[in-house]
Amino acid sequence: MPLRFNTCPHCQQRIVFKIENEDIDPSQYPAPVYIIHKDNSCGKLSTFYVDSLLRVSYKELEKKPGGIKTLETTS
Ligand SMILES: [Zn+2]
Repeated sequence: MPLRFNTCPHCQQRIVFKIENEDIDPSQYPAPVYIIHKDNSCGKLSTFYVDSLLRVSYKELEKKPGGIKTLETTS
């Protein structure tokens, strides 16, 4: 289960989340997945786009169409 280290586009804090192939629709890359920053001071959802190796390509503040899973950050 790959771990991804990134920053939340809402609050810029460091985030960590786990992602698997089943969490995205592989019909087109980069594929969107929704990330909830599980933190009392943030708690916001954003859309992260990942490539076929589940590496983050870019991210958007809003909930964009096409995602199939919502993941929560682990820490
Ligand atoms: Zn945040």
